[in-house]
Amino acid sequence: MPHKTAITTKILIAMLIGLVVGSLINAFALDIEFVHDYLVQGLFHVIGAAFVNALKMLVVPLVTFSLICGVCGIGDVSVLGRVGIKSFALYLLTTGIAVTLALTIALLIAPGQGFEQAQPLSDFSPPPAPPISEVFINIVPGNPVHAFAEGNMLQIIFFVIFFALAMLMSGEAGRQLADGAEKLNEVMMTVVTLVMDFAPIGVFFLMAKTFSEQGIGLIMPMIGYFSVVILCLLLHALGTFSTLLLLLAKLNPLMFIRKMRPAHIFAFSTASSNATIPVTLQVAEKRLGVNNATASFTVPLGATINMDGTAIMQGVATVFIANVYNIELGLTDYATVIGMSILASIGTAGVPGVGLIMLAMVFNQVGLPVEGIGLILGVDRILDMLRTVVNVTGDATVTCIVARGENEIDEDVFNDPEAGIITEIELPHKKHGLS
Ligand code: ASP
Repeated sequence: MPHKTAITTKILIAMLIGLVVGSLINAFALDIEFVHDYLVQGLFHVIGAAFVNALKMLVVPLVTFSLICGVCGIGDVSVLGRVGIKSFALYLLTTGIAVTLALTIALLIAPGQGFEQAQPLSDFSPPPAPPISEVFINIVPGNPVHAFAEGNMLQIIFFVIFFALAMLMSGEAGRQLADGAEKLNEVMMTVVTLVMDFAPIGVFFLMAKTFSEQGIGLIMPMIGYFSVVILCLLLHALGTFSTLLLLLAKLNPLMFIRKMRPAHIFAFSTASSNATIPVTLQVAEKRLGVNNATASFTVPLGATINMDGTAIMQGVATVFIANVYNIELGLTDYATVIGMSILASIGTAGVPGVGLIMLAMVFNQVGLPVEGIGLILGVDRILDMLRTVVNVTGDATVTCIVARGENEIDEDVFNDPEAGIITEIELPHKKHGLS
């Protein structure tokens, strides 16, 4: 029998080759016009961006059908309300822990003290942040078609839940629609698998482009800030999430981390929790054994309102910039940073670079110079990739905890290392799953 490699292994290899090729180009060939114009900004950019678009293309229909199935599967408004409140509370809790951890460690290590401004400040001017009241008003879509067209995840979730509840209340008509949604969901899962077949190529070009532009040299002057963010990301991903999984769900964190690999790879290469939703959903359902009823609700919600990695970056960046500019922050300021990071993470979508806009909101609030963000811009892309990994890990952690509380997780699937792995690519009877 020919040896078949799991699709995630192929993607991982493609990712590493892309990283090496990109770094080599950055070091030796970026000045060559042909390489810069036709390879990096041409081929790499076009195929990478087209692949991210293909992933994004899946998000709205997948979330819609999957969420309808989820709500109809739960079938009970009070259970739905309980799942909603639990996941919301857990998302707030993990973000709160993340930013507090980041502030504490950054205050202990004090990155940025005695920092020599090695590079001139770039004139970073953030787009205006929406006021918090707007964030809440805008959860209700004035026009659902507009919400779908824009891919506004909170509005879509709000409308679809409402619609699915109405389906439950409409007797036979609703039941027939639910059957249809189930079939559409099944077909969408196959579309996901088809797009995944191109993932090794897409991921290679994404990595090659990013690392051609982001040389290691950019990181050196910022090494203090960079390493404190990474330290906090690691502590949160391995410490906080594992503890919560053990304490609140009695699930094996090592198995969890191992099974999250496909979602990690996609989060890292796309830097977008939103674009990673199809993969996180598949991992939650097929690899971790979470019922669609819970996962279809908690995963898209988490991608939108839960950004622990981003909150960590904000905590460290606040302390770093305060140190660089020699600005003394008080306890109230730190409390404001915690509150603002939580609110900002609710009000913004999981797309690349959004963390910087949120950071501008935080800086404005505590009176730090917003142009200070120019200092950390250079290393932000790589940190964005890393914090997105933590963001999706948080979404899956909360998904498992909520599912466990609702008895909606199949422990046999969770504990089976082989569950949900694709080893063969064959159509049309291909199994859905990733490894
Ligand atoms: N890229 C992150 C995400 O999609 C958000 C950010 O930190 O910029 O989760």
